[in-house]
Amino acid sequence: MERLKYRDILYDDRQIGLWPTDKLKRVPKPTNDIVGTIERRDERESPFGKSLFGEYGEEIQREFMRMTRRYPLGASFWDMTDIVNNAILRKRNPVAPERAPIPEDPRVLSRHIKMLGHFLGADLVGIGPLSQSAVYSHNMKGRELEAPFKYAIVLLARKYEPTWNAANGWEEIVDPASFQAYQRLLMQTETMANYMRRLGFEAEASNMNRYLTLMPQVVLDAGLGEVSRMGIILNPFLGANFKAACVLTNMELEVDGYIDFGLQDYCSKCTVCAQQCPSGAIPRGPKTLYNGYYTWKLDSKTCSDFDVLNKEGCVCGRCTKVCPWHVPFAEPRDFDAWDGSNEWLHKYVDAQKARLVAENYVHPTEATDKWWFQLDEQDGKLVFYDERNEQKVCKEYPLQR
Ligand code: SF4
Ligand code: SF4
Repeated sequence: MERLKYRDILYDDRQIGLWPTDKLKRVPKPTNDIVGTIERRDERESPFGKSLFGEYGEEIQREFMRMTRRYPLGASFWDMTDIVNNAILRKRNPVAPERAPIPEDPRVLSRHIKMLGHFLGADLVGIGPLSQSAVYSHNMKGRELEAPFKYAIVLLARKYEPTWNAANGWEEIVDPASFQAYQRLLMQTETMANYMRRLGFEAEASNMNRYLTLMPQVVLDAGLGEVSRMGIILNPFLGANFKAACVLTNMELEVDGYIDFGLQDYCSKCTVCAQQCPSGAIPRGPKTLYNGYYTWKLDSKTCSDFDVLNKEGCVCGRCTKVCPWHVPFAEPRDFDAWDGSNEWLHKYVDAQKARLVAENYVHPTEATDKWWFQLDEQDGKLVFYDERNEQKVCKEYPLQR
């Protein structure tokens, strides 16, 4: 314990991580109005769940079943995620019977866990209370879920900028770009949960393929964003260009609090995502009441159908790419001059919006940096489309299994 006195970073007020989270305005409740009880959701009732169970028809069910795996890089991510998940399920370490001799102060433990999250490679880490309304009632397999934990430690992984900027938002690489982030989060959250159990604390990871939690609410509650017009949570530094996973625990921690960077006002005056959405799933009008809170309600079936049936690529994330809160290649030092005000942030985002308009919503690297091949699995073979958006099969070769 004597050596702990040299661990200043655990005891002082220094910002943890590279992005200036300590300048964010903290508020006591979410910035979107919650007026009723938020009901727990069944994962089978999500648009992807309904696609899987055939509620949207045979074609959507068939295409959903092969959605990620029909593009070979997507299939590779899927396989590796599956292998790691199965290994974890077979060999999950138990909670140590005795607590490790470490400080009990929630603030010190919170700073320690956040440092760990960044050390593991997370771009941002936040801690929030775990609301039971954020826990799925059942998973896709129909298993009843319980998560008797007090806190969620949330990790964000930014999608790989050079590739994401070179894509139009619904090409073949879009799903692998998400899975690349999911894969990192899987290793980060499982390592963190494993470590916490070794210290004698209950901890369970919630990540890709085994999500126990609806991530938007968990991300919101951990002070990592606000509700956006896209219907998902947007972070002031990354926009919505990230994926999230979390570790649920009963270790006594200090929560970060909600944030207010003026997004409700900004989105009420901006409709870029709605205009650029290829399926028209994002509303252009005001918020409406949904499941106990006011939000811009995405037409999630229309969005999901576009994802599943996309013949020009695989899945879609066009809205997150063109939202001006996603500033391509943004770095923490871009915020050095930020005085903590929402006005400064909104001007920063307005400048990106002006660049988007000047570029006609096409990032310059889209013309030069598409490194992935246009492949698709059809009837057990990989086919190559020689021209984007024209499904001409110019080459066929047997699928490598
Ligand atoms: S993911 Fe694509 S289809 Fe869905 S809302 Fe965003 S832009 Fe529209
Ligand atoms: S594009 Fe505009 S309206 Fe849509 S989420 Fe981003 S800021 Fe909000």
